[in-house]
Amino acid sequence: MPPSADPRLIPRQERLLAELRAAEQELSGQDLHARLRSGKGAMGLATVYRHLRQLQQKGLVRCRHLPSGEALFAPTERDEHHLTCVDCGSTVRLAHCPVHDVHLHDTDLAGFLPLFHTLEFFGLCTDCRERQAGDREP
Ligand SMILES: [Zn+2]
Ligand SMILES: [Zn+2]
Repeated sequence: MPPSADPRLIPRQERLLAELRAAEQELSGQDLHARLRSGKGAMGLATVYRHLRQLQQKGLVRCRHLPSGEALFAPTERDEHHLTCVDCGSTVRLAHCPVHDVHLHDTDLAGFLPLFHTLEFFGLCTDCRERQAGDREP
């Protein structure tokens, strides 16, 4: 469904959000910068990050960091979570959100209006487990 124009957003933020919604996967600031470079929505990398931060503050975009330090952005309406390998950084999307049906009690919310959640799991992937098991052999 094409989301209707949000009066809280300026055109550059609309453009970034549309790009994130159209993408199959999460995008880094660099990815967004590259995707917009060819069109008339071109903007500098610092501007991309500034608007992404403002979209986060509006609860429309969330961000997660890979072990490499790279930040990946996605629209918050996409309820996706990942397993990430702390060794090689490979990342796998979970088929289901494990906390989708979790609701906070009013007392826990302390007057907050919940907008979105994040959840990530970190561990060792199959390849790294096998390699580390191999390293331990004499
Ligand atoms: Zn790994
Ligand atoms: Zn979720």
